[in-house]
Amino acid sequence: MAVALPLILGLVVGSFLNVVILRLPEGKSISRPRSHCRKCNRVIPWYDNVPILSYVLLGGRCRGCHKKISIRYPLVEALTGIVGLLMYYKFGLGTEWVIFFSFSAALIVLAFIDLDHRILPDAITLNGIWVGILANGYLAQPSPLAVRLLRTFGVEAANSRVIALTASFVGAVIGGGLLWGVAEAYLRLRGIEGMGFGDVKMMAMVGAFLGAPLALLTIMIGSLLGSVIGLLYIRFAGKSRQYELPFGSFLAAAGIVVVLYGDELVHWYVDRIIRPNL
Ligand SMILES: [Zn+2]
Repeated sequence: MAVALPLILGLVVGSFLNVVILRLPEGKSISRPRSHCRKCNRVIPWYDNVPILSYVLLGGRCRGCHKKISIRYPLVEALTGIVGLLMYYKFGLGTEWVIFFSFSAALIVLAFIDLDHRILPDAITLNGIWVGILANGYLAQPSPLAVRLLRTFGVEAANSRVIALTASFVGAVIGGGLLWGVAEAYLRLRGIEGMGFGDVKMMAMVGAFLGAPLALLTIMIGSLLGSVIGLLYIRFAGKSRQYELPFGSFLAAAGIVVVLYGDELVHWYVDRIIRPNL
């Protein structure tokens, strides 16, 4: 039973994320009017708006005009549900789940908005930075690395809340700064703007939530995903090499992977690659 709750919460939130993905870039209200069919404007009754289930029962078509409903709606719902469930296995169902699931939900929204419009709205990224810093201050669970680093700077007596807040703030600065560096290098190497300032703000948000080391890992995995998937797409979809990749979408996917498995990845890397070579 405990497993069903984060899954169902995830599915319901996913349904809401679909609305945010559509309306936020258009500058429309998230709460009003009620959801309606994009083609015939029919208001969607609650029983046609049950995550995934309604899509299946309706055969992927609107009850009013019988036009096709995008497969993306149930996919976003399923994805958010699965993320909710995986977060439960990592964090249990408490404050940490709420914080890191909300963070992941924000990343899902950013991923799809970047895919659709090549923008990453400030409403999410800039607010996310402050929410990330405050959430870490509230959790007051600084990483052992942050504690050790502060000690080397002579900060011995600081309490865990102060350390967590500081580490989060530093994570935001370094996360954004690293990506700004990558963007500059990319611009000089290829002569085209590979990413905008939106990506920088988004990585500041990731750094605020996850801290500097995991922000770095997110950039590494995101760049790898972007290179492999992006190049394959350009090759097989016949796009030009100047095709603008949604780098934010890849960073968002990487961010969710890192929330779930970042610590394990770092430990694996240190134990297998760094230690044996020392
Ligand atoms: Zn319709």
